[in-house]
Amino acid sequence: MHLLCCPWTRITSFVLPLDDVKSWDVHKIHSLFSEPVVESILRTPLFEEVHEDKLIWNLEKHGNYTVKSGYKHYIKKKSVVQSYTVEGEWSSLWRICAPPKTKHTLWRVYRGCLPTRVRLKERGVSCPSECPICLNEDEDDWHAFFGCSVNRQVWNEAGLQAVIEPRLRQLNDVKSVLFEICINESKEVAGSVAMTLWCLWQNRNNCVWNGVKDSAKEVAIKSLHLLEEWCAVNKLQDHNSQTIGALSQSRQTVAAENQFSEISRATEQLRWQKPHEHWLKCNVDASLSPNSSYTGWGWCVRNSEGNFVAAGTNNCLHKLTIEEGEAMAILEAMREAISQGWPNIIFESDSKVVVDAIKAPPQGISELNSIITNIKLLLQCNSNFEIKFTKRQANMAAYTLARAAISWSSRSYFNNLSSDSSPTLLATITTVSKTSLEPRNHLQNRHLLTTILTNPPSFIESSIVKL
Ligand SMILES: [Zn+2]
Repeated sequence: MHLLCCPWTRITSFVLPLDDVKSWDVHKIHSLFSEPVVESILRTPLFEEVHEDKLIWNLEKHGNYTVKSGYKHYIKKKSVVQSYTVEGEWSSLWRICAPPKTKHTLWRVYRGCLPTRVRLKERGVSCPSECPICLNEDEDDWHAFFGCSVNRQVWNEAGLQAVIEPRLRQLNDVKSVLFEICINESKEVAGSVAMTLWCLWQNRNNCVWNGVKDSAKEVAIKSLHLLEEWCAVNKLQDHNSQTIGALSQSRQTVAAENQFSEISRATEQLRWQKPHEHWLKCNVDASLSPNSSYTGWGWCVRNSEGNFVAAGTNNCLHKLTIEEGEAMAILEAMREAISQGWPNIIFESDSKVVVDAIKAPPQGISELNSIITNIKLLLQCNSNFEIKFTKRQANMAAYTLARAAISWSSRSYFNNLSSDSSPTLLATITTVSKTSLEPRNHLQNRHLLTTILTNPPSFIESSIVKL
């Protein structure tokens, strides 16, 4: 349901439709709402598959609320983004050469959320305010990293005195000092600073929680070792990937052969494949009109020889999502297969979302899920129905039918298409047109279908060319 701007919407199929008929009560809606709202309501599809009213979350396909989508929706609002934007060259922090955990500590300092004792007291936590390392002064950000005499010694022991000291004379807050280093020093030097800062905070925590603290020299050495270890592991990983590259070069012939077979496999996936003997294959697809107001879908059944068996199209003048359209195409094709008595049939769709949802355990409350539930029921009742995902390039017959269906006013059904000449084809199409319910533009449709079936675009599989 896409009626309102609010992401929460209600499936209102039983609020305003006519009794016993799945269509909107146009008179009642006109009497209750303004014209733009009326238009929105009437464009909202009413699925037979939906049986009860539910509140659904529109920003997820399954209709259930998730924190992730809620957060994204909230943050998307321009005013919110602006008020939460924090000034600063943040990219200079993320590019430094240091483990992610040290960058995270730096980020916490930048954002003023490191739980120093002064900050904890400001927020109502009952705790002492003095520095746990020197026990002389209050522990705020500045003291914890630069003001504390013990910690100041760590920077000297780590050989970073020349990087730190001049900046401490010019700048008066931790954030500015660290930003200045990340922006103007090399990413290796900035990495050393980040690692030392992380070790200082670790030493402080160890002192608070375990009553153990290292000397300035020990903290500096630990920082040096940790950074060396991290760099060594990274270099090893780089070396390994280069070795793999060199090895593959020395096996060029084998690689070329493998590549060829991979390309062959990939090309095969891009072509429509015939089903096994005694099986049919039904390709389905959906398409939205250029302004997304209408949805068309089509299906095309072919046999193990690759010959045409039947095809159908339908459309909806309501605004469906592409996934809802794909699911409707599958559902209608399955119902047709049951009524025609086709027992062994593979349904192929190029919508991975829909195919995955059909194969996944039941979840969600959205309209799409109601349609999927019906598809699952039909699959359970028909053991030789299979559902598969296929690449779009191998699904062009259904795609073409779906595209054509957008401009047709009603359901169409095609069968007995002959493989020879145009006159036979035209005669068949005329028959087909008679069986369909008054196409919106009969001549145009006839021309379009002829074009589709006799002069298909080069990307349409060879089997449809035979039509
Ligand atoms: Zn101190």
